Amino acid sequence: MSGDVSDTTELQPLDLESSRVSVQIPAVRYDQQGEMSDDERIGIAMRNFVKDFGRVAAIYMESCVHCGACAEACHYYVQTGDPRYTPIWKLEPFKQAYKREASPLAPVYRLLNLKSKVTVKQLREWQELIYDSCTMCGRCTMVCPMSIDIATLVGLARHGMFQAGLVPHELWAVAERAKREGSPLGATAQVFEDRVDWMGDEHEVEMHMNEDQADYLVTMSSIEIQKYPESMAAIAKVMNAIDASWTFHSDGYEATNFGMLSGNAEWQKAMTVKIIETAIKVGAKAVILPECGHAYGALRWQGANQYGKPLPFRVMHVSEFLAELVTNGRLKLNQVDRSVTFHDPCQVSRRGGATQAPRVVLKALGVDLREMQDSAEYNWCCGGGGGVVTIHRADALRYKTFEIKMRQVNETGAQMLLSTCANCRQTFDDGQEHFHWDKTMHSLLELVADNIVETEQ
Ligand code: SF4
Ligand code: SF4
Repeated sequence: MSGDVSDTTELQPLDLESSRVSVQIPAVRYDQQGEMSDDERIGIAMRNFVKDFGRVAAIYMESCVHCGACAEACHYYVQTGDPRYTPIWKLEPFKQAYKREASPLAPVYRLLNLKSKVTVKQLREWQELIYDSCTMCGRCTMVCPMSIDIATLVGLARHGMFQAGLVPHELWAVAERAKREGSPLGATAQVFEDRVDWMGDEHEVEMHMNEDQADYLVTMSSIEIQKYPESMAAIAKVMNAIDASWTFHSDGYEATNFGMLSGNAEWQKAMTVKIIETAIKVGAKAVILPECGHAYGALRWQGANQYGKPLPFRVMHVSEFLAELVTNGRLKLNQVDRSVTFHDPCQVSRRGGATQAPRVVLKALGVDLREMQDSAEYNWCCGGGGGVVTIHRADALRYKTFEIKMRQVNETGAQMLLSTCANCRQTFDDGQEHFHWDKTMHSLLELVADNIVETEQ
């Protein structure tokens, strides 16, 4: 399939700058990849949807009681009041496909036409709902009384959309680049090695690259490598401070997974297996994942399934690793006399379960932690997850949802804003610039690295 954008409708200007009531419903627009007829596109989408209708997805599809609780949990609905952004509505064509093609009563639905056939027009309209306006943050999932995992279903629905060539073109392009070059942002193995060297020199920290054997394989996200390279020096300082046997490795360093975000299951697997095989090759006892939310979900929660067997090493988000080090006394930190608020990355906290780890580290730093209203598992998404930050046509909507974050942060009155996800950090940086906001997002890992108490080894 080529990456050509063969049919992109013109955008109508969005007016999302002021209050919720003034929001205009955006015109339908979509991107397409590949040359194929509408019937072929529909056929491919349906076949791939049906492949994903396992028992669990089927139960979800049958369980909605239409209570509407998910709507008030979703930053898109809350900020626009547009019923199209009701989470369960975002799955309507998926549900329609299930009822007609895979449910126990599918023959009846087809015979009596109780559920009409999904059309290519519907799929094109749907693109905006499952890519531009869903960060797969899982807040809706958390409040659903029937425990319907809408975020996961959106991820599954993206599989069929990708195969049918109905992906926003920026997301398609970064996913394809990741597959081709090993990184969505041009952080090839050579670029990575060069930047590790540069950070080693710049910060006078010893870097470990391509060691044959190591207890810890340390991975990075391309956003860190390219935009926040200090993260590489920061993790090296931590590893050296505890005298760890560790390595970065040019065979498996990129932890982001745009195969997963775009909906290409094959690319997702290839990216995951690269890290797994590198970890096994160096004999790692643990893989340390970087400050990247979806990287955590991709390896920690989906890695073994992708690999087809249990992983022979631990998988830890860097905040979990830091929490373990300060808890068992291997890492001692200076006290930081500042008030801090912490933004929970959805994929690490709510979706990943590592909610307490950063708080353990913040306690060890002695900061005055000022929690936002609706923090931890209930935190609001920054609006940039799920690949949304790459989709330019979604910018106006994303900024509208970011207003929730600014409000939350401002209310705390904290001096410092921290998180443990470079994608969130990038979304905050972009929001800061757009709104001329006076708050800058900082990295928890970098704060830790700057406050290590040096001890004699
Ligand atoms: S996963 Fe998040 S963004 Fe997607 S529908 Fe649910 S609450 Fe909204
Ligand atoms: S909260 Fe759950 S049951 Fe209620 S409308 Fe949303 S998906 Fe359906």
